[in-house]
Amino acid sequence: MSLLEVRGLSKNFRGLAAISDVSFAIAEGSITSIIGPNGAGKSTMFNLITGYLAPTAGEVRFRDRRITGLATNRIAELGVARAFQIARPFRDLSVFDNVRIGALFGKAGRRDVEAATRRAMELASIAHLATQPASALTVGQLRHLEVARAIATRADLLLADEPCAGLNPTETAAMIDVLRQVRKNGVTVVLVEHDMPSVMEVSDRLLVLDAGRLIAEGPPPVVANDPKVIAAYLGTPDAA
Ligand code: ADP
Ligand code: MG
Repeated sequence: MSLLEVRGLSKNFRGLAAISDVSFAIAEGSITSIIGPNGAGKSTMFNLITGYLAPTAGEVRFRDRRITGLATNRIAELGVARAFQIARPFRDLSVFDNVRIGALFGKAGRRDVEAATRRAMELASIAHLATQPASALTVGQLRHLEVARAIATRADLLLADEPCAGLNPTETAAMIDVLRQVRKNGVTVVLVEHDMPSVMEVSDRLLVLDAGRLIAEGPPPVVANDPKVIAAYLGTPDAA
């Protein structure tokens, strides 16, 4: 059984078809990357999965249960977490307390909050920063904090939208390592990322969106050599 299933999903913004009849399934325990040019509909897809947007047509199923139409907090409680690219931590609170806030929400309710907080900090490689105020963190460390906050909810599915954007190569490698650790600990990961070497290395499968349509899916080496994918990227900075 798939952990997440997207069926015939469409989203129109007035005249614009941001997502057009997209279907795919995410296997439990996998890392899947959604790639595609700017404006392809990647973030909209995350907004539809997490309930921030209602689809024009189609549905999203999590553990074979329809989640389309549920409130965002209900979807989070079922085990779907999202790491935002622009992390907005409580700057005056410690890293520990910021992650703890994540642990107070989501799947397990208010049980084992301390343990979930510590585990999330360890998986995100920020345990050594526990007592630091969030305001003291670098941009890269803030991204780790955002991932820790998301997985502290004890989510089964982590959606990460461009967690490496703006990071240098060392920071990018560290973030990719964190995503690997997260998966190793039983959390399924769906990643939106532009850094192709990282995507190719970390993903079990790729989904390629172009102008709202799913134009290719499969193992990274197969997708990378798909003529439709190459054409979609031609003339964009991502072509390299
Ligand atoms: P990506 O994340 O792949 O760069 P997005 O999902 O952000 O793309 O956007 C897909 C398309 O939908 C773009 O043309 C974007 O301008 C449009 N779009 C996204 N969100 C909204 C919105 N809330 N209202 C109107 N148009 C939107
Ligand atoms: Mg986006």
